[in-house]
Amino acid sequence: MLKTTRCAGASWLPGVLLVCQIGTPAHAAPAAVAPETVATQLRDAALAGHDIAYGWLSELTTRFGARPAGSPNEQAAAEWAVLRLKALGFENVHLESFPITAWVRGTESAQLIAPTRQPLVAAALGESPPTPAGGIEADVVLFPTLAELQAVAPGSLAGRIACVTLRMVRTEDGAGYGPAVAARIEGPAAAARAGASAFLLRSAGTGTARFAHTGTTAYVEGRVPVPAFALSNPDADQLERIAALGQSPRVQLSSTASTVSGAHSQNVVADIRGSAKSPLEQFVLLGAHLDSWDQGTGAVDDGAGTAIIVAAAKLIRDLPHKPQRTVRVVLFGSEEIAQPVAPGSVFGGHAYADTHRGELPRHALAAESDLGADRIYAFALPHAVLKGEFADTVLRVLGPLGILAESHAPRDAGADVAPSVEAGVPAFALNQDATRYFDLHHTADDTLDKVDRVQLDQNVAAWAALVWLAADGTQNFREPGAP
Ligand code: ZN
Ligand code: ZN
Repeated sequence: MLKTTRCAGASWLPGVLLVCQIGTPAHAAPAAVAPETVATQLRDAALAGHDIAYGWLSELTTRFGARPAGSPNEQAAAEWAVLRLKALGFENVHLESFPITAWVRGTESAQLIAPTRQPLVAAALGESPPTPAGGIEADVVLFPTLAELQAVAPGSLAGRIACVTLRMVRTEDGAGYGPAVAARIEGPAAAARAGASAFLLRSAGTGTARFAHTGTTAYVEGRVPVPAFALSNPDADQLERIAALGQSPRVQLSSTASTVSGAHSQNVVADIRGSAKSPLEQFVLLGAHLDSWDQGTGAVDDGAGTAIIVAAAKLIRDLPHKPQRTVRVVLFGSEEIAQPVAPGSVFGGHAYADTHRGELPRHALAAESDLGADRIYAFALPHAVLKGEFADTVLRVLGPLGILAESHAPRDAGADVAPSVEAGVPAFALNQDATRYFDLHHTADDTLDKVDRVQLDQNVAAWAALVWLAADGTQNFREPGAP
């Protein structure tokens, strides 16, 4: 019979009493406690309020502000993270550096020239080349969808600016982002093929505030072919209304953006060591990205994710006993920007999978937090454990947080862990409410004040509990027959 008491000699979670056997001598190893019991206690400890996640996020965004990939700020934030993770008791804390081509926003402006003069709120898209000195002035041709721009005859937009005005749909699960972001990724290439001198995009964002949402584009044979900009939603509305009046909006764009070859980024790796030693050591990988876009301070994208996984792992670190598997936190560098030659657009995730290729077969499970700080409403487990005792236990522990079980495995493991998942590592997901995330995403308005501390702690609670259940067990998350 176990009773709840406070034991001497153990490190205690703030705000919760751990379960220990009455009469356990001080400094003796605590008796084994069922993983579900510990997971429940971790959950409740996180909810009871602590300052790990918010303190981390506040310090990160205040000390370093924006952290563009390859920038001195990104590097300084990574070096700070190493020191803070060591101070929090993580082991094997180190940087893993890798080369990238960085992108630097210069000065930029956008003006409506005709039928009336008016400043426009726009932001150059990532990797976009500069305009010629003096800018580009041209009539704008609007397309409701990317497909309609892609369908025009090659060269038919010579001397004009192509603009895709597809509006992102607001949903709880963020499903509207995929269709909207396709125009951002593929639009510059389609505009160049049509002969346009520049590309404009209605921001891939849901907000009605007058902020432009930047984001990555795609290189075509080593370069982004034309200068490319996102317009704020109200400014895109204005261009559409002008066109609906039968008039042709004329716009002037200028940008001094540049790329920096020979830059580098870095992943931060930190472990909460499990009790199993190499070669039997296995890993539960938690990811988030430390880089951010340049105009806000990257609080929701993705400072919040780094704070959530660090806090969850720290709560596990402070338990009286170790989990069986090692909990590995990776703060990825350079998630946001595409590379001229690398496969995919997410360089930190590729760098991790390449560097740790030999360890990936011993990665039991992986997931990342990269959708802000709002509440988690569902969990998705790998196909092999969608049904059964593990899933039932997770639901019992997370259900009181308002979290339901998805009936399918994660559809998208996330950009940072994707290269590891493609190499066979099973993925889980904790799906967050993205209803307001895309109002802020990639804008100057992505700042700390948007983070709701109660919902941030709910995230930490869910991560700590689920990660504990995965780490303190021998459950095989791979499909039967998989290595
Ligand atoms: Zn992100
Ligand atoms: Zn992002």
